[in-house]
Amino acid sequence: MGSRAEFTKVLGLVGYRVMAVEWDETAAAAPRLRLRIERRGLRGYECGGCRGRTGHVRDATARTWEDLPWASYRVTLVYRQRRLVCGQCGIRTERVAFADGHARMTRRLGRLIGLDCQSMPTSHAAVRHGVSWSKARRAERAFLAAWDAGRPKRRPPHLGADEIQRGKGQRFWTVLSDLVHGEVLGLARDRSEASLTTLLTSRLDARQRAAVEAVCIDMHRPYRNAIAAVLPRAAVVFDKFHVLQHAATALDEVRRQEFFRAGAIMRAYGRGKRWLLLRRWKTVRGSKRRELEQLFAANRRLFKAYVLREQLDRLWTYTTRERVAGFLFGWLKALRWQRLPEMEKLGDVLVGHFDGIAASCDHPVRFGVVEAVNTTIKAVLRRARGMRDEAFLVLKLKWATARPIRTVRDYARFLHAEPLHSNR
Ligand SMILES: [Zn+2]
Repeated sequence: MGSRAEFTKVLGLVGYRVMAVEWDETAAAAPRLRLRIERRGLRGYECGGCRGRTGHVRDATARTWEDLPWASYRVTLVYRQRRLVCGQCGIRTERVAFADGHARMTRRLGRLIGLDCQSMPTSHAAVRHGVSWSKARRAERAFLAAWDAGRPKRRPPHLGADEIQRGKGQRFWTVLSDLVHGEVLGLARDRSEASLTTLLTSRLDARQRAAVEAVCIDMHRPYRNAIAAVLPRAAVVFDKFHVLQHAATALDEVRRQEFFRAGAIMRAYGRGKRWLLLRRWKTVRGSKRRELEQLFAANRRLFKAYVLREQLDRLWTYTTRERVAGFLFGWLKALRWQRLPEMEKLGDVLVGHFDGIAASCDHPVRFGVVEAVNTTIKAVLRRARGMRDEAFLVLKLKWATARPIRTVRDYARFLHAEPLHSNR
């Protein structure tokens, strides 16, 4: 049934060898392997207090640690942990290389559970590894905290601040993210000036703040105030998708007005077309395009509003402020005499926020990243609903947006992160 050397090799804990193997198959659903291990190599034992070495052993007690599973077998390590008489600390328990002080699972199992929790519910990961829910949750938190603490502090020139709805009703989070790497930096309650100010001052150090060139936000006044106060040298760039959202709202308003005004014809062609109308032309195909064309043939105003909305995209294709201004001027001119008060209102908003829209010429913020980060955040928040621990939530968001595991090597690095040598 395999030699002890083979078992030792599979176990792969440097500094320890397998002395005996017990097969426990009483629980058919979760058979268990108990591996009795012993230290090898180094002389003396490491003190749990000062980490100095001593050979002075007082006594020893057999203790167990859960370890990574071997196929369908759960694995328990049994090791006689010494109590040492340390010259400096007095009587102390020996430090083992594979687990933290009072932990009853090995560090690598904790990391595997922590990793699993990033792609499945905590309850599922707990059952999978035969531990309690709270133990799995603790392992996950420790895993994420260790990962976050070991990361370099970057100095991204482009930041993003956005509001995200929290549950139902008027409750919001403010999310600060690094738009260069597409990662969440922090989370604060509410969408006030104070929320963003707190994030900018607590999540970034002075050097990081000094490196910020532009912050991408919605056209939301409190955020602009916070940026002006904390990052006076940074430019404000208005998020393209938010601006286009305003345009979509204006188009929708035109649709509603036309329903009132044009009556029977609109009811014949326009009923149930709201979502179709709000879609971009390039995403509409085949018969749906014909439906839209029929609608536009029946109502010229709606057609005009639709075209104006479609053209707005071009605002972000220019590289100089003059050209953006030129385009906007032409757009406003096309709007004249069209009797589309909603679109005119939109035009006023665009003119009023021209600086922040044209700022993308000088600061090429990656708008696609803003959207991708937001989508990921919403998915995590939906899964983590009801989570009370905000610091934990931020860690989960950081992990989900940073996507640290992209290759086999990344995965192995996380699972076997520690230097396998125990000898400090
Ligand atoms: Zn000591």
